Formats: sequence, C-alpha cells, structure tokens
Amino acid sequence: MDLTYTAAEEEFRSELRSWLQSNIPDAWSAPGFWDALPDDESFGLRRDWERDKALAGFAGIQWPTEFGGRGGTPGMKAIYDVEMVLANAPRTVNPLGLTFLAPTVMAIGTEQQKRDIIGPMLRNEVIWCQGFSEPGAGSDLAALSTKGVRDGDDFVVNGQKVWTTNAVHGDKIFTMVRTTPGSEKHRGISMLLIDMHQPGVDARPLKQMSGASEFGEVFFDDARVAAADCLGAIDEGWRTAMLLLSFERGASGIGQYTEFRRQYDTVVDVARKLGRDADPVVRGKLAKVLTDLECLRYHAMHVQTQVEQGRDLGFEASMTKLIWSEPSQDLWEVFDLILGEDATLDEIDGVDLRPLHGQAMWSRSVTIWGGSSQVQRNVTAERVLGLPR
Ligand SMILES: Cc1cc2nc3c(=O)[nH]c(=O)nc-3n(C[C@H](O)[C@H](O)[C@H](O)COP(=O)(O)OP(=O)(O)OC[C@H]3O[C@@H](n4cnc5c(N)ncnc54)[C@H](O)[C@@H]3O)c2cc1C
Repeated sequence: MDLTYTAAEEEFRSELRSWLQSNIPDAWSAPGFWDALPDDESFGLRRDWERDKALAGFAGIQWPTEFGGRGGTPGMKAIYDVEMVLANAPRTVNPLGLTFLAPTVMAIGTEQQKRDIIGPMLRNEVIWCQGFSEPGAGSDLAALSTKGVRDGDDFVVNGQKVWTTNAVHGDKIFTMVRTTPGSEKHRGISMLLIDMHQPGVDARPLKQMSGASEFGEVFFDDARVAAADCLGAIDEGWRTAMLLLSFERGASGIGQYTEFRRQYDTVVDVARKLGRDADPVVRGKLAKVLTDLECLRYHAMHVQTQVEQGRDLGFEASMTKLIWSEPSQDLWEVFDLILGEDATLDEIDGVDLRPLHGQAMWSRSVTIWGGSSQVQRNVTAERVLGLPR
C-alpha cells in the first residue's frame, strides 16, 4: 500500500482547493440551505455551478484531454473526491452520465457519439438518466420487457422504467430495450439513447419519504429513437450494459470515507450535546461503525494503490459498495437510536436536526441502488471467493 501523493498531485490539490474556496458561497454551507430550496431551484443552482467547475478544468479528472478531461492520475481523482467533500461542494447533477455513460462511449461509441455526448455532458448541457429498472425487472435486469420495434431507420419504443434518478430533470436516457421480438433473458436487448423531450416520453416524479423527488417513472408510448442512437451493436445491449456497469468499480472509496467520517463526527457531536453519549448501547454501536469506517479507509487505500500501479482488481473492487453502504446505514440507525422518541423533532436543545434527518432517510436507499447488498454478497461469494453458485 502506498499512501503518498506525488508533487504534481499535491499541486493539483492546492489548485482545486483554492478554486473551491473562491467559488462556493458561504451561504451554501449553512444548515438547511439546500433543504429549504425547491427541487427545481436547487437542481438549477447545482447544474450551473458544476458547469462553471468544468469550464475551470475541474471535471473529468481522469478522462483523456481529447474528450475535454484533465488527463489526471487515479491519485488526482482521489484528491478531487476528498476535496469536494471537505469543501461541502454540491453533489453532481449528472452522476449516471459521468460515472457510467461517458467511459462507455469513450470505449465503444461511434466517433459521432463521442462528439455529441461527452462535451455537452461535461458542461451539463445534457442531463442523462439511466433507464434499466422496470416494475418487473430490478436485480434481475434480464427480465426487462420494454420493447423497441424497428420502423425504417428508427425504433419505436413502448414500456416503462422506474426508480429513474433525475427523471424529471433528464434530457436523455440510456435505456435497455428488447429489440428482438420474443427474445428472452439477456439476448435481443439494445442500449438505446432516447431523447426525453419528445411527445412519446412521459417522466413522472416519485415522492420519497424525505419529500424530495430525486427519482421517478418514465413511460414510453411510441417514442422514437434513431437506430444510429444505439450504444454498441444492436441486440448486443447486454454486453454494453456489463461494460457500463463495470465502471462503477473505479469509484474512489477514499472520498466516501471522508464523507462518512464527517457524518460520524456529527452524530457523535449530537449524542454529546443531547447528553446521550454515556448510554453503553449507543457507545457500542458507534464503536462498531467507527471500526467499519476505518476498514473502509484501508480497503480504499488498498484499491487506490493497486489502481495507481495499473492493476485491475476486477470484482474485488466491487466489494467497495458493500464496505461503504452498510456502515453508512448503520451510522444513521444509531442516530435514530440516539434521538429515540424525539426522532420526529426538527431541533432539540438548540441542535438543528433537519439536515441530519435528510441523510438518515437517504441512507435507507444505499443498500438497494447500484446492486443491493444481497446481490453484492452473491458477487463477492461467487466471483471473489470462488464459492459454488
Ligand atoms: C435511490 C435509488 C435510485 C435509483 N436510481 C436508478 C436509476 O437511475 N436507474 C435505474 O435503472 N434504476 C435505479 N434504481 C433502481 C435500483 O437499481 C433497483 O432498486 C435495484 O436494482 C433493486 O431492484 P428492485 O428494487 O426491483 O428489487 P428486487 O430486485 O426485486 O429485490 C428485492 C429484494 O430481493 C433481493 N434479491 C434480488 N435478487 C436476489 C438474488 N439473486 N439473491 C439474493 N437476494 C436477491 C434484493 O437484494 C432485495 O432485497 C434506483 C434505486 C434507488 C433506491
């Protein structure tokens, strides 16, 4: 394990830090600032800010410069993730596009797709959604039933997607569609890049328990998409999807550790302020979370070192999801335990609980999206440990 950064990486850190210091208004860090804004306003503010960050050269950190990226090292990407957390920078509004679609287009897209998709995405001119899950197809993605029927140079698409992040703010959606009639399982599927601003596409918000609508449903009713807007070969969408999902393995756990460690300190602070830090059950649970978080830190450093040395850890890196999501959820369960019957209050003894409630509610989802914990355990058992199926 190598825990040091090069001089060039440290220089990148100070450049980024100083840009973030000058470009994040103090008001954005005030408790409750983002929660008080209506969804559309908050999304618009983040969309514009992230565009300016990209124009300043702080986006696509590891992407090749020919695609508008910075051509940086894995160490720079880790530094970027950490500094964004430390600066309380807004979260990206284009996570599915930046994490999954862009690297897939770089790898297998046509020259036209590379030109049309990557630059506009980097500048947030186009917000991308991921249209994989359906009411009858979640973990078992191959059960999907949205259909695309060839009509001249187009496909005509009918069906429904669900849990679509950014559904109401999306401009385009990379969508898994069954393009061979009567095909089964992973055969006969294509990944179509569908324009969401057309009459045959209806995106409806789903209300979360927090009151926000970060995801929604997307209905296709004779929506049209050119056959040329297929990513990868037609009917080979499964292969495209497997490549696309493999890019999640590149995510830096060090940024996640930084974020959760901060949240941990906040929860401990709340326990102290409310005088509930002496409870032995609370103390035991907090100690367990802290131990797990420190394991995440060392796992992230191990992955980081291997990646820096050009090694592909394959499925071992996918364990990162399990290693961060479960302690993160456990932390917010301790938070609820600390509050006890006061869990519904916005404020106790001068402690503003509103932003923390939002995080506690969000934590319920982290063991579901991006591969549920049960599915991740199957992957670890079968692909990393080589246990029988
Ligand atoms: C906040 C959030 C954002 C999301 N954003 C998107 C998005 O942008 N685009 C998109 O396409 N989808 C998105 N999803 C959907 C997400 O990918 C699915 O919820 C997930 O794949 C699980 O599918 P499901 O909900 O249908 O549950 P199911 O697959 O029906 O699973 C139900 C339960 O069974 C378990 N289970 C399933 N299969 C197995 C198995 N083989 N072995 C053991 N246990 C199993 C699961 O772990 C789970 O506990 C999002 C979900 C959330 C919560």
